[in-house]
Amino acid sequence: MDRNRYDIAIVGGGVIGCQVAHDLAPEYDVLVVERDRVASGASGRSAGNVSPVRFYAQGTDQPAMAKTIRSFFAEFEHGPFSFEPHDRIELLETGSLDDPKGKAAEIREHGFDVEFLDKATLKARYPYFDVSRYDGALLFGDGGWLDPHTYTTALRDAATERGAEFVTGVSVKAIKTADDAVDGVVTADGDFEADHIVVAAGWRTADLLADLVKVPISPYRTQIVVLEATLPERFPIGRAIDKELYFRPEANGDLLVGGGSGPINDPDAASMDADETFRWTVAETIPELLPELDTAGFVNGWAGLDAASPDGYGIVDAPEDAPEGLIVASGFTGLGVMTAPAIPPVVRSFLGEEPPPFADFFAIDRFEDETIDAVSAFDH
Ligand SMILES: Cc1cc2nc3c(=O)[nH]c(=O)nc-3n(C[C@H](O)[C@H](O)[C@H](O)COP(=O)(O)OP(=O)(O)OC[C@H]3O[C@@H](n4cnc5c(N)ncnc54)[C@H](O)[C@@H]3O)c2cc1C
Repeated sequence: MDRNRYDIAIVGGGVIGCQVAHDLAPEYDVLVVERDRVASGASGRSAGNVSPVRFYAQGTDQPAMAKTIRSFFAEFEHGPFSFEPHDRIELLETGSLDDPKGKAAEIREHGFDVEFLDKATLKARYPYFDVSRYDGALLFGDGGWLDPHTYTTALRDAATERGAEFVTGVSVKAIKTADDAVDGVVTADGDFEADHIVVAAGWRTADLLADLVKVPISPYRTQIVVLEATLPERFPIGRAIDKELYFRPEANGDLLVGGGSGPINDPDAASMDADETFRWTVAETIPELLPELDTAGFVNGWAGLDAASPDGYGIVDAPEDAPEGLIVASGFTGLGVMTAPAIPPVVRSFLGEEPPPFADFFAIDRFEDETIDAVSAFDH
């Protein structure tokens, strides 16, 4: 180790830990401790869809957050990483939204590129979809997709160049405290001392912190299947809420389909392969949406575990009842990759810097009255 004591020790080398390390490394001595490999958790198994405007453009603080996210992905460059700007459609089942045109106008007022496509326009623009079940679609022009493993490791590499240190294959066993404040992390390879600890350990965060603070998250499992296809170049990212599936094109023209999400009781024993039942659901449902994929072959499939919060959004906070210097960053519920660039500004606010406009959105005390029995999981 280069140093004995760090300003910040981050537990977890997923996209959240790596994003925080990347953004904070220029001003702070940062250490990341990862039990396995960087991006070996949910981050490396994600679909990589980025739709900040779909999920964050409404409400008081969220438009600022969506803009922070949008700018980061537009500007970040490192090694093989690339962000693929891409249109996204949200198919609207007949009668599902009262005033879709008004909704699009409302979001546009915040400076985002959103429009309502009525049924005829939707069909003309994307002729390969069977739109008979839909009133039309909301079209979001501010998103895209990325390879989540490449993104996370690019953040790690850029963070390392900025002076952050990474220790992998080392599990944090406990948080060390002294006088009601954090003092470091305990691992089988020895202790690392730090003034602040950011716990970004995905679904394992709640268990790791069980003796210090209650974090209202639960593990949930979500799945992906890739179908063989030759999709046209501007095939959109999208979601059919009625079918509980989302989709995006792969770089080679195959179709990635995600869904099949649900809470899981024994995450350590969970299969990391897509279930047979989910594969059948995709095989039966996708041709209803895209008739030409009626006989599309199965390329591969997998599953991953993420942390879900009761309202489906992340928790980034320094809880009042926790030791001073402890910052929780977890519970991203299927949105962690696209949310990552918004997290470092929130962490900074707990390091004594100016609070960002959207810190309240991630506050843990919004769950004071909730149980964690019911978790929300998003399909993106
Ligand atoms: C199939 C699937 C599809 C998804 N699609 C999308 C999408 O399209 N768009 C999107 O935005 N999000 C998507 N997500 C969600 C997104 O991947 C997650 O929200 C995000 O990766 C969470 O990042 P994280 O860093 O919090 O957790 P993780 O990536 O799980 O990282 C946590 C890390 O902490 C490590 N760790 C745990 N305990 C310890 C310990 N005690 N000591 C040291 N290290 C520890 C783990 O090994 C792990 O590497 C998807 C997720 C899945 C599974």
